[in-house]
Amino acid sequence: MNFDQFNLDSRLNAGITKAGYDKPTPIQISAIPLALAGHDLIGTAQTGTGKTAAFVLPILHKLLKGPGKRMRALIITPTRELAAQIHQAIGQFKGNTNIRSIAIYGGVGAANQIEALHRGVEIVVACPGRLLDHIQNKHAKLGEVEVLVLDEADRMLDMGFLPDIKRILQHVPGKRQTMLFSATFPKEIERLAAQTLNRPKRVAIGLARPAHTVAHTLYPVPHHLKRGLLLKLLKQTDTNSVLVFTRTKHRAQRLAKQIANRGYKVTSLHSNRTQGQRRQALRGFKIGKYQIMVATDIAARGLDIDSISHVINYDMPDTADAYIHRIGRTGRAERTGEAFTLTTPDDREMVQKIEKIMKQKLPRQRLPDFDYDAPMPEYTHTPRKHKPRQNRRSASRPKQRVRQR
Ligand code: AMP
Repeated sequence: MNFDQFNLDSRLNAGITKAGYDKPTPIQISAIPLALAGHDLIGTAQTGTGKTAAFVLPILHKLLKGPGKRMRALIITPTRELAAQIHQAIGQFKGNTNIRSIAIYGGVGAANQIEALHRGVEIVVACPGRLLDHIQNKHAKLGEVEVLVLDEADRMLDMGFLPDIKRILQHVPGKRQTMLFSATFPKEIERLAAQTLNRPKRVAIGLARPAHTVAHTLYPVPHHLKRGLLLKLLKQTDTNSVLVFTRTKHRAQRLAKQIANRGYKVTSLHSNRTQGQRRQALRGFKIGKYQIMVATDIAARGLDIDSISHVINYDMPDTADAYIHRIGRTGRAERTGEAFTLTTPDDREMVQKIEKIMKQKLPRQRLPDFDYDAPMPEYTHTPRKHKPRQNRRSASRPKQRVRQR
């Protein structure tokens, strides 16, 4: 099968070739003909399967016919990075055609977005919050939307966007084509799909299982030795493009610093960073300026960086789905990748869940020259010089306060 067989508008061929796509991926083979035929779609596809092109190409094909300068396609997505990425993919495929797209998200000034909306764009790729602002302020008019895409619906649910999405849905015409993509289908998403889609066709690719091109290894370690083990692992790994996940933004920030202290070129991606810093981190990581990026789940959701060789779960993810999503960052588009997960005794239950979803027992590995019995570091307290206070109110107060640890 090749792309010619979809009979896409020939103006899209140059972009497909430029992207280096030779053959369509399985999700593209099943979704593109259905989308071109105008069906509503529910796609169960993990990231890394090529789902962006699966909805972007049929949208472009459709928009190349008919009027311009009005919002005809709306793609809603959970994170800014994902919105920027989809917008970029549209830019690549649309080539020299006069289709315009815009990415709309918070954390950056609204003026350019407002100006572009008023000038007229055919495709809007948006995160829910900022889009709602523009709707409420009458900058975004959704009355002529013909195609609606809800991308990574389960993650939008996790991030609490469901009420926003329902509000946005009130502004799009009932007569439209809708495509919903999600890696998992909790009942809220099934309900949303039932309310939003009209007799949808289902396309399921690799049902919520990570790409088969990824090798998984667990590294059991006591909690207090995690950092030491990670540094050792990095030392013996080809660190040209390693994505490390932590549970919180503070841990990401701190770990990035600690890794940098060992001489690695490292950056971090989490929601405490400004939009500019996030963009700079991503770009630097993509072009190889940074060897390592430490990120949280939300920030790294759906990132399209095809060269990531290793994903390291410094902290175990909160859910098995999050594991799938993290691992989806490597082994993309049939490349090979490795996934290392540091596990402490507290993670036993989550390991079982992951093995269940993976339908296999994951190999455990011990690093041969790592001291697994090293004791917990002592709490080192350097006593401050005790300065007697002048006007002490009560002589009966203890002289030195005991520090709470
Ligand atoms: P996605 O799942 O849409 O995020 O795509 C994952 C990666 O696969 C991206 O880097 C795409 O550019 C790439 N990709 C998508 N479709 C194809 C294809 N047909 N051939 C080669 N690479 C592709």
